[in-house]
Amino acid sequence: MADAQQSPPEITCRRCAKSGAPPLKHRIPFKALRPMLLESLCAACWSEWEQTEVRIVNEYRLNFLVPEHRAALERACREFLALPEGDEAQPS
Ligand SMILES: [Zn+2]
Repeated sequence: MADAQQSPPEITCRRCAKSGAPPLKHRIPFKALRPMLLESLCAACWSEWEQTEVRIVNEYRLNFLVPEHRAALERACREFLALPEGDEAQPS
């Protein structure tokens, strides 16, 4: 029987270079970054970003429902995780 509860495959993290499970898909709000993060970032590094994200949101009073705010957060996320540019989100 196929088991839906299988643990996710291990990846080698681009940020900390450790092996580990990737972040949970639903924890990544940035669609454009998801594929890259799911195959090259560990859950621990993602939760570091989540803590930073909360600080940024509070500091700048960002609202995730506002497209410009969301874009600013995505940029901050790329910078924080040192993600390569050139894989921009399609305008929706
Ligand atoms: Zn990591």
